[in-house]
Amino acid sequence: MAVYALSGGATGIGAAIKSALLARGDRVIVVDLNEGDICADLSTEAGRAKAVSGVRALTNTLDGIIPCAGLGPSVKSPALITQVNYFGAVSFVEGLQDLLKPGGRIVMIGSNSAPMAPHDDFVDLMLAGKETEACEFIAEQHPQSAYAGSKHALLCWMRRHCLALAGNGILMNAVAPGFVDTPLSDKVLADKELGEVTKAFCESVPIGRVAKPAEVADVVLFLLGEQARYICGSVLFIDGGHDAMLRPDSF
Ligand code: NAD
Repeated sequence: MAVYALSGGATGIGAAIKSALLARGDRVIVVDLNEGDICADLSTEAGRAKAVSGVRALTNTLDGIIPCAGLGPSVKSPALITQVNYFGAVSFVEGLQDLLKPGGRIVMIGSNSAPMAPHDDFVDLMLAGKETEACEFIAEQHPQSAYAGSKHALLCWMRRHCLALAGNGILMNAVAPGFVDTPLSDKVLADKELGEVTKAFCESVPIGRVAKPAEVADVVLFLLGEQARYICGSVLFIDGGHDAMLRPDSF
């Protein structure tokens, strides 16, 4: 039985990852706001410390870490999006990575919007660990900029840090989902400002439909598994061809 630490496992993609791991007999320690083995708010220093100490109190070793908790662009606070999507995810990994066994895995949850965000001062502030400054920088901008920028920084962080981990036999990769049918995306569709453009975006997915959470979970389980033993530092798009459509010559 493998043991995984998963944030954001209460709903959506995280819940699908949890179900798939439990179905094959693994143990999953879930950190989430209200429904988790550990209830903690990953937007705050205190919540992040509670999450990490809570997982450590339940296990001495891990086979994998999946920081899935995240907020979408319908949340009207760009700073909160930044705190959860980037700093919450990175802290979760940094606080637990020493528990990983050789051969352990980390799967970051990015987004196919990440490559479309500019690599600007906001991204650099996050990568420099300057949380207050990054939140101040983005505070007056559109929540979509915080969303895409935080995912951009998260994928850069993964690429920069996977190398040292690889030397210890730990493989870190990321998935970049497109539009997935979850409570987060329901809120984006229901948003007065974002709803119409998001609906059009969904209708333009090359394979003709949006993703189900289980379709992202399947790929996460692949990256956690033996068949992915030589994959390190990769970003795997799960978006029905949207990234290929929008950026055909970039890979
Ligand atoms: P969701 O809203 O269904 O689930 C997110 C989970 O994170 C919830 O259980 C929520 O309680 C938890 N969470 C939120 N804020 C938290 C906090 N401060 N502390 C602890 N837990 C917190 O969303 P989802 O669509 O399943 O998203 C999961 C991940 O996938 C996110 O990182 C999201 O950015 C990413 N993603 C989603 C989509 C999509 O279309 N749904 C696309 C690309 C990437």
